[in-house]
Amino acid sequence: MNQSYLIKPVMRDFYPTAMYGQGVFIYDKRGKKYLDGSSGAVTSSIGHAVPEIIEVIYEQAKKISFVYRSQFTTEPAEKLAEKLNQLVFGEEDEYFSFFVNSGSEATETALKIAIQYWQEKGNFRKNKVISRWSSYHGITMGALSMSGHIGRRERFVSLLERLPTISSPNCYRCPFNQKYPSCQLMCANELETAIRREGADNIAAFIAEPIVGAAGGVIVPPEGYYQMVREICNDHDILFIADEVMTGIGRTGKMFAMEHWGVKPDIIALGKGMSAGYTPMAATLASGKVMKPILAGSASVMSGHTYSANPQSAAVALAVINYIEKNDLVQKSEVSGNYLMNLLKEVAVKYPIIGDIRGKGLMIGVEFVSNILTKHPFQKELSLTSKLVETARDKGLLIYPATAGIEGGGGDAVIIAPPINITKQEVDLLVNLFEKMVDEIQ
Ligand code: PLP
Repeated sequence: MNQSYLIKPVMRDFYPTAMYGQGVFIYDKRGKKYLDGSSGAVTSSIGHAVPEIIEVIYEQAKKISFVYRSQFTTEPAEKLAEKLNQLVFGEEDEYFSFFVNSGSEATETALKIAIQYWQEKGNFRKNKVISRWSSYHGITMGALSMSGHIGRRERFVSLLERLPTISSPNCYRCPFNQKYPSCQLMCANELETAIRREGADNIAAFIAEPIVGAAGGVIVPPEGYYQMVREICNDHDILFIADEVMTGIGRTGKMFAMEHWGVKPDIIALGKGMSAGYTPMAATLASGKVMKPILAGSASVMSGHTYSANPQSAAVALAVINYIEKNDLVQKSEVSGNYLMNLLKEVAVKYPIIGDIRGKGLMIGVEFVSNILTKHPFQKELSLTSKLVETARDKGLLIYPATAGIEGGGGDAVIIAPPINITKQEVDLLVNLFEKMVDEIQ
């Protein structure tokens, strides 16, 4: 077959046909081997064809693959919810899980739960959500409304509810032209200004990615940012939603990225690495504080999908989390992340088109610039990011395209986020292929 009838996400000339995967490698129909340097879309966090997970899929399929969530609960779904509750920052708080099928559904559900929380408390005015530019919370309309990703919004603005309100905490390109720490975290203070402008009485929640992924090329906020955000939300009685869809379940060297700053969100969205790509699975975790008025009121979250809490997917997600714990992969993500980061920095000094390398654990962003001193991005028409991704693919390395540079989108960046069980030799190979790609592009 030389013609594909699939509608592709980007209408480009050619996608290879993937045939099978093993560990960190994927093989296409022509026998070409690719190192999965981005875990797909930062998803396959334990690599491909892990026997323990395949076994669980088979065993669960023999028992039951589907029940409807308003007719039955299942053991895998209950156990997964219990496990997530144990994992979220110790045991002092209780978090309830609402299972969905994608990160977009998880953030969309988070928005709905936040609004419903205030309604159940008798407050119908608190229904707006503050979000940031250079952010991505998903492709469905509610989630896209909150997303500060120009490229993904622009065609659908007529259907989007609102614009993001504040800047992202981007120290490489500070929106306030300041330097940390003398800036005194103006980026966090901007939240307070926005709340005062809109009126705290109208705002249900603030949503943010702990570390920005696709819409920023991995933006790690400065120390103290989230502590201040949490304080501002508390002071103004606003819920804090952490979108951990990309960062969650071990990716950044902690089980949840918010642990880096010791900050507890009221609601957490999870997806991607939660089932490591073996089945579609995502979740919205709501704290006991948020669920209390809901449970005492209507007693159900006003959302849901046919495949919510699918037992097959729940069994897989539980097995993935157990596998991560058993193999100490959260810690390995930190150790391998530091090793990879150091090697990439050695490459960067040789190539002035690399402007910045940043990240935590195995979530690393590389931003490309046309001038390293002025940090000027490449012109948009050059579309360097797709050239980088394609050149890397030709060399047998998969990396993930991101938007960076200018607030709201513009510059070129890629995300490097291999499976967190990658070995040292595989990291060496990844960096070797990455350098070959940069060398060809420069
Ligand atoms: N939130 C974040 C932070 C993401 O990175 C993504 C996807 O890239 C989403 C939400 C949406 O997830 P999905 O593509 O599974 O709908």
